[in-house]
Amino acid sequence: MIDFNVSKSRYVRAVQCIKMYWMDRVKPEEFDDSVMDEAVLETGNEVGELAQKLFDNVSVVEYSDDKLQMINRTSEYIRLGKRYIAEASFAYKGRFLSVDILEVCDDGVIINEVKSSTSVKDVYLDDAAYQSYVLSLSGFNVKRVNVITLNSSYVRKGELDLTQLFSVTDVTCQAFLRHQSVEQLLEFLSQDLDLTVEPDVSVADYCFSPYPCGYFGYCTRHLPEENIFMLKNVNKKNKLDMYNRGLYSFSDVINERVVFSRLRPVVKDQLLKEKIIDKKEIGRFVSKFRYPLYYLDFETIQYAIPPYDGMKPYQQTPFQYSLHIEYEDGRLEHKEYLASDGFDCREQLATRLVNDIPKGACSVAYNMAFEKGVIRDLADYFPYLRDELTDIYDNMLDLMIPFKNHWYYDKEMQGSYSIKAVLPALFPDDYTLDYENLEGVKRGDQAMAAFRKMPSMSEEEKQQVRNQLLEYCKLDTYAMVMIMRKLKGAIYE
Ligand code: SF4
Repeated sequence: MIDFNVSKSRYVRAVQCIKMYWMDRVKPEEFDDSVMDEAVLETGNEVGELAQKLFDNVSVVEYSDDKLQMINRTSEYIRLGKRYIAEASFAYKGRFLSVDILEVCDDGVIINEVKSSTSVKDVYLDDAAYQSYVLSLSGFNVKRVNVITLNSSYVRKGELDLTQLFSVTDVTCQAFLRHQSVEQLLEFLSQDLDLTVEPDVSVADYCFSPYPCGYFGYCTRHLPEENIFMLKNVNKKNKLDMYNRGLYSFSDVINERVVFSRLRPVVKDQLLKEKIIDKKEIGRFVSKFRYPLYYLDFETIQYAIPPYDGMKPYQQTPFQYSLHIEYEDGRLEHKEYLASDGFDCREQLATRLVNDIPKGACSVAYNMAFEKGVIRDLADYFPYLRDELTDIYDNMLDLMIPFKNHWYYDKEMQGSYSIKAVLPALFPDDYTLDYENLEGVKRGDQAMAAFRKMPSMSEEEKQQVRNQLLEYCKLDTYAMVMIMRKLKGAIYE
């Protein structure tokens, strides 16, 4: 089997960082695949397949590890006069590429590159440049290069309107303008890059953008265990700035007075490892809450391709909520909603929600911008529920505030104020408040993935996953109850 030394993904990775290309070829075992998002890959495939329907009678070249087989099948399709070919594959001097959808015209070809995002990013132009360059060298007249993305303002109404759902952007000029850089980089990769010597490349902003690099752990292995890249709420630019000044460890930063004072108070608490309890601010904060309190948490899913009316690509769509009601005397009541899979649950969920939270009640969320966004969308889509939903929206308070403002800080939070960091810091020994003790679903992204997979599960699996989802979401609101109690207790400590 021929191993082509450059493919379009390898080329794009080389543009991001030469060392990344080198690592892919020489030390791929060092790659940390936690940077890969399985859901993103699945979405990409789903969108790619749907985009093929924009064209008539698309002939698909099946994926094979044997790239020659793909190339031969493409030639066969061209010989048979097929007009649209998906995954049309070519190679020229060891450079391989598969075009998402190739249109073969009498006087040349049109490249259609499909992306599941909602805008044309710069990195797509490198991809387009590589494809058009290699195809041109292979003797094809590349007439046009299109990038097909999702249209974020498309709102589904009835059947999917593919011509509205997708946006087609002609990037021919931008792609051709980059041909010289493509040529230079390809030449460097094939002639100058010595695969026996690890490139001397330092970490920089390209380690994070356009894609997070899976070799970051390898490239920063010389840093101490507690290093500046672990600092929370400090942006990448500031971290790289410190790195370039030779400040690697927490103590390096503390000792460097200029940097340290510039980053105060963002990193001070993390570095000095203080415990902070600002009783005055916390007291002011908790006095705003009026019992009974309605602790609310949604789980949502984002569909690239809107499955129901009134939905846009990637709109946050709720499928579950948990609601703990806490009375002034400490009594707790729990309500919850979890949609069955395979139907548009939004109306049912919104109706249940306004029945569960009476008008004027004080609702509580952790990072309420998210919950408010979901409620606002529901209110927009169901005008007859707008009054009640707006009432919940207006009466919501955010339990994250004391932690975000460092009125309550514990070193175990490691600079983070997410509930997943705050909870174990506040209740280190409480088994019932540890997400790790949950079965199956322990994080929001896992909840979303589990709900997405439900339609393909057996009844038994579904029931199991439903139980896991209910337990997970319930812990989110129970955690809020306990955090609130901790805050109130802290005032009198
Ligand atoms: S971590 Fe940064 S320097 Fe290392 S290979 Fe990746 S992008 Fe290049």
